[in-house]
Amino acid sequence: MNSVRSKLSIVAVSCAFALSANANTVLFKNVNVFNGLDNKLYENQYVLVENNLIKTISSEQPDIKDGEVIEGNNMTLMPGMIEGHGHLLLNGGNLSDHENNRTVEELAARSTVNARAAFRSGFTTWRDAGGLNTGLRKTIDSGMLEGPRLYTSGAFIGPTGSHADFSNLTTANQHFFGSSSSMARNSVSFNADGITEIKAAARQNFKQGNTQIKIMSSGGVASSFDPWQLNAMSSEEIGAAVEIAEAYGSYVMSHAYSKKAILRNLDAGVKTIEHGFMFDGDIAKKMKEKGAYITTNMTAFSPYLTEIEAINSNPASKRKAETATKAFSKYIENVNKYQPKWGFHTDCVGNVVACIKQTDHTIYLAGKELGNFFTLKGLTSVNGEIVKLSGVMDPYPEGKLGVIEEGAYADLLLVDGNPLEDLTVIGANEKWFDAEERGHDIETIKVIMKDGVVYKNTL
Ligand SMILES: [Zn+2]
Repeated sequence: MNSVRSKLSIVAVSCAFALSANANTVLFKNVNVFNGLDNKLYENQYVLVENNLIKTISSEQPDIKDGEVIEGNNMTLMPGMIEGHGHLLLNGGNLSDHENNRTVEELAARSTVNARAAFRSGFTTWRDAGGLNTGLRKTIDSGMLEGPRLYTSGAFIGPTGSHADFSNLTTANQHFFGSSSSMARNSVSFNADGITEIKAAARQNFKQGNTQIKIMSSGGVASSFDPWQLNAMSSEEIGAAVEIAEAYGSYVMSHAYSKKAILRNLDAGVKTIEHGFMFDGDIAKKMKEKGAYITTNMTAFSPYLTEIEAINSNPASKRKAETATKAFSKYIENVNKYQPKWGFHTDCVGNVVACIKQTDHTIYLAGKELGNFFTLKGLTSVNGEIVKLSGVMDPYPEGKLGVIEEGAYADLLLVDGNPLEDLTVIGANEKWFDAEERGHDIETIKVIMKDGVVYKNTL
């Protein structure tokens, strides 16, 4: 398996060099286009890529002098997928395992493996929801490593005892300046109390080049000290994070479960609600008014939820998961009824094998509960809009992401099959922990292009 993987990376690297040597024109011929926006395939299209952008989409073959032609044979050309909420650096076991048992070097090395696997699974962009700083992005963007475009949040910010607190029960004074917590010292998680500290933490993240701010404004399931019902941050504290994000031309994404926490976030100017399990008609209305989005980990509704390591290794988390599942029972009904701007979100905390399985199962659950088209929009155009909320902090400002449109980035997948009818062609799997290991690649994804460069072509 290892030798196959390293051969594949050599092929990808040599492809990249070959393409950058000539005019960098690639024509996809005879493809059925899912553009990320419409619930249909546009059949027998020609999509011309020039350098790193989509130049034209037409039903007639355009005239090109040189460049590569990819015969699509009526397969589906779709935008590269976008992870709306992941944690590439949280690749250990449960949350306290990261603080207590792993050096940041181990986590960083493993994050490269998780990034590559996500990329080979069709994710050409990844919004990281906390923990990951900008080093991996620099490494990928320099061409040293295969991986998605990265929109990182840096350290998540939350008060002492919140979902962001990975310290030991006995650790005192773990504030991020001069901290005794490894996760704080290494900019994975900052415990910041009050307006002054929150502003300082947000500024520290932007200083390091991160693209948006992630706050933990309510309790969670996989952490140690917080009931999920906790409204962890006051309106003023959330507002302080929003103020700094807006000062940088960007936005805040906020972990929020309860209705009270969600409404408080929206009122304070938060643009994306993360998880948002108590979503209902009042929230839908306010989200519309504010131009806000919601992204949700659908595994919360999986029958296998309590088998997840980050939850089942911690009795408190296990108990929390049980009560949470009951309280969130109206979520699916409400999302189907109010159709908010919904982004796909896996939220895996774990190693590469665990995260591949979780992503595949999440795609399956989203399709089953919310429909294939809604899921695909969430995986492409909606998450594409979300990452662009980073405004002037956007490291990729040349084009749109998550759509097949003239002028958008040429981040494309050629898929053998129609994902609108069958999500298994992009990896969906009804099984979770019992799923067979599939390696990094998905066989039905024949071509992966990012930024106009072909990284995979098994046609
Ligand atoms: Zn998360």
